[in-house]
Amino acid sequence: MGEDNRYFSAPLIEWYLISKRSLPWRDTRDPYLIWLSEVILQQTRVAQGLPYYEKFRTAYPSIKDLAVADEEEVLKLWQGLGYYSRARNLKKTAEIICKDYGGRFPETYKELLKLKGIGPYTAAAIASFAFKEKKAVVDGNVYRVLSRVFGIDEPINKSSGQKLFQELADSLIDSENPDLFNQAIMEFGATECTPKKPNCSGCIFNDRCVALATSKIGDLPVKLSKIKVRKRYLHYLMLLDQHRNTRFVKRPNDGIWAGLYEFPMIETSSSRELTVNEIEYFLGQSASVTLLSADPMVHKLSHRYLEVRVYRVEVEDLFEPVVSMDEIDQYPTSTLMERLLQQFKI
Ligand code: SF4
Repeated sequence: MGEDNRYFSAPLIEWYLISKRSLPWRDTRDPYLIWLSEVILQQTRVAQGLPYYEKFRTAYPSIKDLAVADEEEVLKLWQGLGYYSRARNLKKTAEIICKDYGGRFPETYKELLKLKGIGPYTAAAIASFAFKEKKAVVDGNVYRVLSRVFGIDEPINKSSGQKLFQELADSLIDSENPDLFNQAIMEFGATECTPKKPNCSGCIFNDRCVALATSKIGDLPVKLSKIKVRKRYLHYLMLLDQHRNTRFVKRPNDGIWAGLYEFPMIETSSSRELTVNEIEYFLGQSASVTLLSADPMVHKLSHRYLEVRVYRVEVEDLFEPVVSMDEIDQYPTSTLMERLLQQFKI
């Protein structure tokens, strides 16, 4: 253990060994399972990610199983977790590891970073948890703990701030137990030094925490103001012919919903209802149109605010691809489309 950083790592690891939550991916050194859990947990709470981890581990017990899996099946399993590019990258990276690395994960941080779809955080997690490399993970929890304990107000979404926190974390990591240290600091941020109500009275660092001493807990970590949220106005047409068929269309292979299925959609530049004429012009045929809810549905994504209207549109003919309304649950869709189907499916 590095002697001069023991003041930080020793109490942290001791706390972790007593207080940690038991989570399935903590009992393994298999880099594939560690990677799977890390990708699932990005931007996802543990309680929400757990069932997905179990589903994926059961469906694809090894990286080879994932590499040869059908992409639509992978997206379907991922449904509800959001940020679908994670699922597509998961599959792509699995294919690369099987093709170029004989199905074995590279064993060092540097080599892992060379893989498309694996960034510094995930590379550090795999290198330390699976191979005990001394490389610190820095995620949102780590930023919070370090910025508060050491009173650092460098913005965490600027590259200079990220570099500073990475260097600090690397200097604090325990040499003998880098894996435990990384688990411990993330767990500490997730359960003790939480964003809104940190448990300062019972905290192992409360005798030296700069944020506590200077009443700056609510100000740290510092994040520069967010990108402006863009508003979009989407209109989905739930087409229906006399045989209960509809059109459920695969989106192109780019954008956040790449490869997922949805009803035909028209976008407007302002918040308003579509006219029957506009819909008939879009379809190239006459139609019987009903707006399914007077109030638009609001769906928020990280940088988007979507206002969504849904129309039931009865028509004589449908162009291919035609899908039975009773079978659309089998297709991978976005969380928005899932909400929409739950509320309006005919
Ligand atoms: S004293 Fe409070 S703010 Fe400081 S590290 Fe502990 S929990 Fe976080």
